[in-house]
Amino acid sequence: MFFPHKEIHALLSNIKIVLVETTHPGNIGAVARAMKNMKMHNLWLVSPKIFPSADATSRASGADDILARASVCRYLQEAIADCQLIIGASARCRTISWPELTPRECAEKVMISEPGNNVAIVFGRENSGLKNHELDLCRYLLRIPCNSEYSSLNLAAAVQVVCYELFIASGLQEQASIGDKGETPLATAAQMESFYTHLYRALTDIGFMHPDKSNSIMRRLRRIYNRVQLDTKELDILRGILRMSQGEGRKRKH
Ligand code: SAH
Repeated sequence: MFFPHKEIHALLSNIKIVLVETTHPGNIGAVARAMKNMKMHNLWLVSPKIFPSADATSRASGADDILARASVCRYLQEAIADCQLIIGASARCRTISWPELTPRECAEKVMISEPGNNVAIVFGRENSGLKNHELDLCRYLLRIPCNSEYSSLNLAAAVQVVCYELFIASGLQEQASIGDKGETPLATAAQMESFYTHLYRALTDIGFMHPDKSNSIMRRLRRIYNRVQLDTKELDILRGILRMSQGEGRKRKH
């Protein structure tokens, strides 16, 4: 799935992380940190027990801008009023069966939802989670697969897992590592084809390629190179090696 840069930012910023009646302010800070790590910033707090607080700020460790911009409201309904897709995170299996998603499936659902849709992912209280009437407002229930005998993650840890999946699904990480840092672009299919032609010629020249087996060997070689996704600089190095093995290097020396 490909999302151009601007849309990715819009996508991630259209996602609200909603915390319901959080008891420990330190957890709110840790959630802000987890969100900022994953380029998310839209935090909503429904009736937090203590907020703002020095504990929250200290656990935010530099993500206090997220705390400063957090919206605080009284009822969950206010936080989700403008949302089209609402997902509730719960550690517990419920007696009524809700359509369930893993964090990865949740991220996929979010990514394919209509552009411009607002999404809310709702997290419950540390001691008792989300109440059924709150889950009634949710389209899906999100459950992080884990040890079934010890399934309740710390609130901020649960938020971290979910935000990480959203970040990865948005493709932002891949784009950031290729585009933003000025790294070498990946080789195109056309560049790869001309590399394979060169490779075939070089392997024939050095007597490695047997005509009977050339098809299957080339197929295997293609598979190897497809696995690694070469960039253009790496491709240049390989073509340099091919040229040398064809004797061009030796010719050049004399
Ligand atoms: N004791 C509570 C768990 C509270 S943990 C209970 O029984 O529900 C605080 C919040 O973190 C939960 O409400 C949920 O939103 C999230 N959470 C923790 N573990 C989770 C898991 N395994 N899957 C999904 N959400 C989880």
